Amino acid sequence: MEIVAVPAFSDNYLWLVHDEASGETAVVDPGDAAPVLAEADKRGWPLTQVWNTHWHPDHTGGNLAIKEATSALISGPAGENIPGRDVALKEGDSIHLGDRVGQVIEVPGHTLGHIALIFDEERIAFVGDTLFAMGCGRLFEGTPEQMYRSLQRLVGLPGDTRLYCAHEYTLSNARFAAHADPRNAAIAERLAEVQRLREQGKITVPTTVAQERETNVFVRATDEGEFTRLRKAKDSFGS
Ligand code: ZN
Ligand code: FE
Repeated sequence: MEIVAVPAFSDNYLWLVHDEASGETAVVDPGDAAPVLAEADKRGWPLTQVWNTHWHPDHTGGNLAIKEATSALISGPAGENIPGRDVALKEGDSIHLGDRVGQVIEVPGHTLGHIALIFDEERIAFVGDTLFAMGCGRLFEGTPEQMYRSLQRLVGLPGDTRLYCAHEYTLSNARFAAHADPRNAAIAERLAEVQRLREQGKITVPTTVAQERETNVFVRATDEGEFTRLRKAKDSFGS
């Protein structure tokens, strides 16, 4: 499975996912159609599917134009209003790209119907705006308890699972993490690394489950109370 980041807006990543054997290509969370269609065209990867993790326009805004241009099949969370959706996904459902199989899990918190797509065999997960490298999504619809549980599910995956999140927020998250847990050497080290990468204009995702267990203060929170305090503190920390 080949995965390519298509940057959009100020900090979104729209992920192109290509299966060589079948020639199928999916796009995860196409907030905008034009850059996705251009990149797919450049690579000679005709789009066959759209997968949405949640309803926010920066994740679904390109759905209809992509469907119009390619007749791609659109799959998204059952509990949310997804433009052009053909297949409603809920916990325990599967998605397919050629012979590859992804599992749907529900990870409420950022939005109530938010889902993640887990490819066990490939050790790849698309996590939308639930878990970010060294951070987590804002709580627009769900409760802190829901988000804490959703994060714990994601970091319960095997350590070498690569987590593809939908935004480049890592530097801001790393600064907050260093502030919240100043004695954590792994966090300090990763902050320096992320600073270096961003100065060179490089992207900092995907991350891995193992890295997040070490350096994500929201994941490392020992209970929901600590998680809630951290999330509130991050909301007012700025970037
Ligand atoms: Zn969102
Ligand atoms: Fe988003």
